[in-house]
Amino acid sequence: MKKYEFWFVVGSQLLYGEDVLVTIEKRAEEMSRFLSEKLSFPVVYKITAKSNNEITNIIKEANYDDNCAGIITWCHTFSPSKMWINGLSLLQKPWCHFATQYNREIPDEEIDMDFMNLNQAAHGDREHGFIGARLRSARKVIAGYWQDDDVISKLEKWMKTAIGAAYSKEMKVMRFGDNMREVAVTEGDKVEAQKKLGWQVNTWAVGDLVKEMSMVTDAEIDSLMNEYTEAYDIATDNIDAIRYQAREEIAIEKMLKRENCHAFSNTFQDLYGMEQLPGLASQHLMSKGYGYGGEGDWKVAALTSIMKLMGENGNGASAFMEDYTYHLEKGNEYSLGAHMLEVCPSLSDGRPRIETHHLGIGMNEKDPARLVFEGKPGKGIVASLIDMGGRFRLIIQDVECVKPIMKMPNLPVARVMWRAMPDLTTGLECWIIAGGAHHTVLSMDVTAEQMTDWARMMDIECVHITKDTTPEKLEHDLLVSDLIWKLK
Ligand code: MN
Repeated sequence: MKKYEFWFVVGSQLLYGEDVLVTIEKRAEEMSRFLSEKLSFPVVYKITAKSNNEITNIIKEANYDDNCAGIITWCHTFSPSKMWINGLSLLQKPWCHFATQYNREIPDEEIDMDFMNLNQAAHGDREHGFIGARLRSARKVIAGYWQDDDVISKLEKWMKTAIGAAYSKEMKVMRFGDNMREVAVTEGDKVEAQKKLGWQVNTWAVGDLVKEMSMVTDAEIDSLMNEYTEAYDIATDNIDAIRYQAREEIAIEKMLKRENCHAFSNTFQDLYGMEQLPGLASQHLMSKGYGYGGEGDWKVAALTSIMKLMGENGNGASAFMEDYTYHLEKGNEYSLGAHMLEVCPSLSDGRPRIETHHLGIGMNEKDPARLVFEGKPGKGIVASLIDMGGRFRLIIQDVECVKPIMKMPNLPVARVMWRAMPDLTTGLECWIIAGGAHHTVLSMDVTAEQMTDWARMMDIECVHITKDTTPEKLEHDLLVSDLIWKLK
């Protein structure tokens, strides 16, 4: 991963004289040092901008600097915004307007007109806010005192989202086989995806993967088997099946690395030359941060990888998920999510078990090994990216995951249980009205606010279903949104 940093650009003007500008510079350096210590990424103080040229130049530099993942602006004093128009019109990086001020409190006895001239963020921020609105810029506004933990946490989340945007722009997805035959929702415009999201989505032959698998050595498999044994309990006598998955994982990862891909998709309908659908192999790759999509779903594969990166430690609890079955007992309604094999162990509530079972779907000659576990409880979201024709729509729904309420001893796959907001059936109505897919990324790590910010950064439509959403209101919002996005 790149050494990402964020640039701190402070707005002012020449009207106040040299002394004021020297003080601003000193304070901006102090603030950037403090924020860099508190945050996961450096905040690099760049300039106290006083002219159109200075602003335009620093924004051009930000655009071209690969390490710069976004700019944070703040107006210590009043900074007339016409001098920001040329620069902001060129900006290609995420922008956070940080509405803060150096001093926390108004100094009752000391305050005079000099103090007012130096400390007028309340005044400057509004001028700065106007130009963001006037230019229709994609920006994040974060307000609060710069030393407060809640404010720092908001900055941290925005930074991770901005890095998700930078990572998206470089995303490469490796497709093995096409989409599952006749399925609509996993389709999409790859040219539009590359234009808007930066994703390079291309196909590689399953035969090439089979060839790669044949070149994997026993020593390589032994070493990966050790990793499996450390992380998982082996609950099968069929060690050959596990070793076969290791062979698949090693071969897939070699190809991904060679092509610098961070996500992949495959389909059970195209496994020619393979004995097992990669199960454990895909699961372990996901645990390392790779995105995966079943049935050729490259959209969910890329989104999984991006959301993993946006989470804690680069690979939090964000996972490819599929809605399978409902429990519709009154007052105790839940969705059961799983996949035929490929659920990421980042959601696991305990130590996953490696099991082998027959898989009837697809071309499996042998029983595939897979990780079986129960999902952990907690608040989260599910996110789905669909192609509306002419644009992408990101749909986010708030969910509450629970420890699965039953044992389901004969279910041979990992299982996750949740209740969608506002309640299972209303949430289901909303999800269906919005056109959300059966494939999602379930995250207990990345927030709905982050995904909304990410959609704004990527300039795609975003729909958020919350505890307050009603089908009536949602239908109205979607109608309006459809008009707006057709005009855009
Ligand atoms: Mn599926």
